[in-house]
Amino acid sequence: MQTTIRSAATFTGTGLHSGRPATIVLRPAPAGHGVVFRRTDISLGDTRVPARWDLVDQSPLCTRIVNRAGVSVSTIEHLMAALAGCGVHNALVEIDGPEVPILDGSSAPFVRGILATGVRRLAQPIDVIEILSPVTVETAGGWARLSPSDGLTMTFHIDFADVAIGRQTRRLDLANGAFVRELCDSRTFCRRAEVEAMQANGLALGGIAGENAVVFDGAQVESGAGLRHADEPVRHKMLDALGDLSLAGAPILGHYDGHKAGHAMTNALLRRLFDTPRAWRMRPCDAATAARLPGAGVGIDAVTAVA
Ligand SMILES: [Zn+2]
Repeated sequence: MQTTIRSAATFTGTGLHSGRPATIVLRPAPAGHGVVFRRTDISLGDTRVPARWDLVDQSPLCTRIVNRAGVSVSTIEHLMAALAGCGVHNALVEIDGPEVPILDGSSAPFVRGILATGVRRLAQPIDVIEILSPVTVETAGGWARLSPSDGLTMTFHIDFADVAIGRQTRRLDLANGAFVRELCDSRTFCRRAEVEAMQANGLALGGIAGENAVVFDGAQVESGAGLRHADEPVRHKMLDALGDLSLAGAPILGHYDGHKAGHAMTNALLRRLFDTPRAWRMRPCDAATAARLPGAGVGIDAVTAVA
């Protein structure tokens, strides 16, 4: 069945790129609503921005959605991952600024808030997007692919010159609360060399090394109290991928392969998928499939500990 959260949850913090403070109020929503943002700081025109793949604007460092009136919300991916990872299909996200707060750089604060309020089943069944044949997008820098699988599984590979990151590969089946246990606390990261370039371009203005982002510089790591996992970067890339895939509008049954992929590539992959009618179908979710979805059981039957 579709779900929403039991009651409102509030989060306050600073936007990673804008440096602007913002408060989010996550509210329950009815079946069929999906995840929709609403800008409460704007009073004129259409202030609702549905969290959908076809409203994603090209933005290399974060996921930004824009409605037809030009109203946007940036850096939605960690909140979207938390909702998908906790199996929340419907929510209204009120936000009083242009960018979702970065909090600690991971999805864990959102997951804690969602699990604290709880997840409620609604009286309408959920459909799933079943991948029928592989689709791939490729650039000079990497590639991403969706291929058939009976649950959402993921393989991600990254390769950085900084020895403190290096090559990292992880494979994960996202069933049974795996997102909450394995991925949700892994933080945003970047390379020291990129920080100054980003800030010169008016990005990462709210970034604080070790507090809301892990910064790598060769063998050096600024990570606050240390890395949360030895392979925290690749786990964060998988977290981002789940958030970006959740913009498909329904849970995906498929295997996602990301090879040095990022937000723009995962969005291009969804566009390629929906441009290829024979590669997917929407179908009702049976009980066996429901048990394999990322949020199955999380926050309803058992509270999964957040690291
Ligand atoms: Zn991220």
